[in-house]
Amino acid sequence: MSKFYYSLFCLLILSCTQEIDDPESSEIGDSTLIQNEIENISFEPVDSPTLIVLGTLQDAGAPHMNCHQACCENLRKNLDHSNLVVSLGFIDPENHQKYLFEASPDMPEQLALLSDHENFSSNDLPDGVFITHAHIGHYTGLMYFGKEANNASSIPVYAMPKMKTFLEKNGPWSQLVEDKNIRLSSLKSNTTTSVSNNLQVIPLLVPHRDEFSETVGFKIIGPTKTALFIPDIDKWEKWDLDINSEITNVDYAFLDATFYSSKEIPNRKIEEIPHPLVSESMDRFKSLSDMDKSKIYFIHVNHTNPILDQSSDVKHQIEEAGYHVAEIHDTFKM
Ligand SMILES: [Zn+2]
Ligand SMILES: [Zn+2]
Ligand SMILES: [Zn+2]
Repeated sequence: MSKFYYSLFCLLILSCTQEIDDPESSEIGDSTLIQNEIENISFEPVDSPTLIVLGTLQDAGAPHMNCHQACCENLRKNLDHSNLVVSLGFIDPENHQKYLFEASPDMPEQLALLSDHENFSSNDLPDGVFITHAHIGHYTGLMYFGKEANNASSIPVYAMPKMKTFLEKNGPWSQLVEDKNIRLSSLKSNTTTSVSNNLQVIPLLVPHRDEFSETVGFKIIGPTKTALFIPDIDKWEKWDLDINSEITNVDYAFLDATFYSSKEIPNRKIEEIPHPLVSESMDRFKSLSDMDKSKIYFIHVNHTNPILDQSSDVKHQIEEAGYHVAEIHDTFKM
């Protein structure tokens, strides 16, 4: 990220979290003030295993190519670099390790953000990457491990069997495998992969448009807490597991929030790109206790979804009902 954008990004983050000593000084316009603030900014390194939100958007991000509606025009005027494609990071300070869930097209920036939350490594490269499926927002960041970019050495990439074969058999991904930039490990559904004493991962198959690979969500198990991460699923009712019970069994749930309503994308047939609408999910989750509702963080948000707008009515309704909309740099003790 260029220094300017990083500075602007930090400023915006701080102005949201109110960590600046003098909140008044966060007004943009006085370059001296801005410079002073930039120099004072740093994230506290995490002191125990922690999950960090590194991106919250649907695959194609925002501003979205060729979208000239207010959702994206406003973003183009105020690029703040908190708009990154869905991804979670896991930092394990005890073992000096960090992991990535999804290799999004924004991965270089996201790995730098992950480094901002730890102080044990001088290297942004992760100790492993878990991939849910072969749609562009979830794996194409792998290209940055290749010859034209980092020329990384044997980064462990964890994928389901079809996803693994897809990467092995198709260029340019096959070159990453042949050149040993990445080292593929096969995951098995409903089976625990133990990465370390502090991290275990269980893939759960979910119904989705599986053109090139199967699709999974992950149960991410830390030493004291468990998180469910399902960025893409066609509909909750098509799943063989009951999402409400799954929520009660974890501490945090990061769930598909692609669209709020079916009216958002007038130029596309929504039946061809099914997702649980946020409005439907809220109905389904209504019977959960307040404690269970508070575990839910909506993520994988399309550029058209009004929950991206901090001041929208639907965002307020979601929060009033006890749910959250995931935000970049949100941290969760694991
Ligand atoms: Zn997606
Ligand atoms: Zn848009
Ligand atoms: Zn998908």
